[in-house]
Amino acid sequence: MLNRRRKKQIEFGKRSQRKGRYQNLGSAGLQNNILSEVGSSSLSPHNTQSLVNVSQNEMLRDYESRTKLLFDDIEPVLKEILSHQTRSGFKRWANEQLFLHLGVKLEEAAWDMDESSNSYSFFQDLFSQIVFKQFLRMSEDFFNNDPLQGQNRKEAEEIFREAGIHALDITPCADGRLAHFISYVLRLPYSVARRKAHAGALFDVSESVRNWVFIEHSRFREGMPNNAAEPTRFLKMAVYHYSKVDPSHQGCAAHGSDDKKAAEAAKAKLQDFRQAIENRFGCGSTVETMLIGLNTDNDTLKVHIPNQQGQVCLDRYIETDQLYSNATNMSASEARVLIESEIDNCNLQKNSTIPRPELKKLIAWLVTNNFSQIQYVKEYEQGLYEDIGHAERFIGIGNGFEEVQLRNLCYYSFLDTIEEGVNDIDVGIKIFKGLNVKRGLPIPIIIRCDYDGRVPGSKTRAVEKARRIEKAVHSRYQELSSCGLLQTMGTLRDNTGARPAEKLI
Ligand SMILES: [Zn+2]
Repeated sequence: MLNRRRKKQIEFGKRSQRKGRYQNLGSAGLQNNILSEVGSSSLSPHNTQSLVNVSQNEMLRDYESRTKLLFDDIEPVLKEILSHQTRSGFKRWANEQLFLHLGVKLEEAAWDMDESSNSYSFFQDLFSQIVFKQFLRMSEDFFNNDPLQGQNRKEAEEIFREAGIHALDITPCADGRLAHFISYVLRLPYSVARRKAHAGALFDVSESVRNWVFIEHSRFREGMPNNAAEPTRFLKMAVYHYSKVDPSHQGCAAHGSDDKKAAEAAKAKLQDFRQAIENRFGCGSTVETMLIGLNTDNDTLKVHIPNQQGQVCLDRYIETDQLYSNATNMSASEARVLIESEIDNCNLQKNSTIPRPELKKLIAWLVTNNFSQIQYVKEYEQGLYEDIGHAERFIGIGNGFEEVQLRNLCYYSFLDTIEEGVNDIDVGIKIFKGLNVKRGLPIPIIIRCDYDGRVPGSKTRAVEKARRIEKAVHSRYQELSSCGLLQTMGTLRDNTGARPAEKLI
């Protein structure tokens, strides 16, 4: 199947056609609004589901389309600009064109081709600089304008609290096809969860324990997010992935596209984490764990249902695609009853106990949220992503990257040092050799180190860390770096508020 990005590459001067395409999205959205006013129960079963949030789908689609365009137009626009290099006043004209088509400008000096460089490296430098500019612009938009309304977490926090959960920590695979898991697949506000992605969802148990200690300490000392006396739990979620269309090629690269291995490995990490907390802090500190599998072809889920004791099992799960079709024609309340009874049946049929009622309600809510995403893929992607494989636009390493909430935009790996994250980055480089290098495009890597603006010296330490990581990346992948095929930008962010990323100078 053709990569979506390749298909999207259009010639310079044909932008009006593309604009037209996205204008059409607006009319589709309008139609949905009218339909939703009519009342969801009267809709054709093939159009939408009673639990689907149509207006949210429209908003999410608009954000996805316009944000991805910032990156996808770079190559054709830049190539066209560079074909006019001999014209007089080129630098000024080039910047004007760049701004007109991509909304950014470079320093005029960037358009000077150095005598020692050749046209390939000149193109690669410019390409990366524009990718980095677009990322900074995206970050600014994300934190200043909150386009996904992810800073409004009150309602979601209340639902988690009712389920007895006071904090949520999610580890998806670093694969870019899972980067939209929080905001799109589960429809959660990004700020309600801590996300640390790792190749194969193989998170560092000790790092997760440190985060747990931090959260619990805040409860004891500050009563944040709730008082330690309240009998609530910390929820750790691990997300593995698979492809039903092409299971042996489009599954998890970190597990050789073996679905069973991917699920087993994520489950083992969750068990280790739970065990670590119990061994170190006693059974009263028990954490909740949740294992979810994502079908990256269409964003449907396998939700592994915990038993009464919170234990999960690989062959005990519900599938949201089946539930979605079974709930067609049902009212919202009927659909909720169906989902909750399927959750219980799932465990009873496997001779296990049913989950705690609060947790069952939480899982049912997450399933209904996923219904909106299933409809999103049905409506905007004809039920199956064109880019079922990798199509990330850049690699992100370090921590944070909350502004990356879109599918296949970024291969993101959480790490503090290159040494500990080397497997994750190797997987990312391998993916980008196929996506970019073989087409003569560089691999853009954005390094991010968050800091706490309230802590003296925190920013200085973040600067040093970002420089250390940047240097180590160039040294590890020297072959690519020396010929301009690997380019980096260091960024920092004060994570105490909704502040955009700053470029490390
Ligand atoms: Zn993976």
